[in-house]
Amino acid sequence: MRSIEKIIALFRKFPGVGPKQAERFAMHVVKSDNGEIESLCRALRELKQSVKYCRICFNLSESEVCEICSDESRSRRTICVVERPQDVQAIERTGTFNGLYHVLHGRISPLSGNDFSSLRIRELVERVSSGKEISEVIIATNPSSDGEATALYLTKILKNRVGKITRIAYGVPLGGDIDYLDEMTLSYALKGRVKI
Ligand SMILES: [Zn+2]
Repeated sequence: MRSIEKIIALFRKFPGVGPKQAERFAMHVVKSDNGEIESLCRALRELKQSVKYCRICFNLSESEVCEICSDESRSRRTICVVERPQDVQAIERTGTFNGLYHVLHGRISPLSGNDFSSLRIRELVERVSSGKEISEVIIATNPSSDGEATALYLTKILKNRVGKITRIAYGVPLGGDIDYLDEMTLSYALKGRVKI
């Protein structure tokens, strides 16, 4: 395989990268100077060596226990369950959650019949069962059919182990128009209505 084809094939393995984009990336590499490529290679190697998963919540971490889990000022009573490490970042950016997280690393997909044994569900169950101070599990999986299936499954296996299980609300986007919403979003927004 010619080196250009080899690099295109490698870029194509990245999520969301199609053939055209992979080709553009490869051309960018060809045009870049040696220094730039060297620092890219170094950064990739460093990333791979230093970033691992937190042994408690499975978020990305450069140490055995991540910064969130080791932060004493955070509440140990609430665990927010998300699909991916990026979701932790998104919730952290809101600045409104002060509990801990649990990253599943995927979701259950009943239609594609995926094998979900690689998800960190067993670790979540162990964590909830052994953590006496945990009073609430918030399920923040994506609002998709797979995210819903995952939420239902987690509710079933956790319900006798923790006092309260909640699901993040779906709703009308801020600044949005009700008549532009799809039926699904609007019906979830109605079901999840709150008293004001
Ligand atoms: Zn952690």
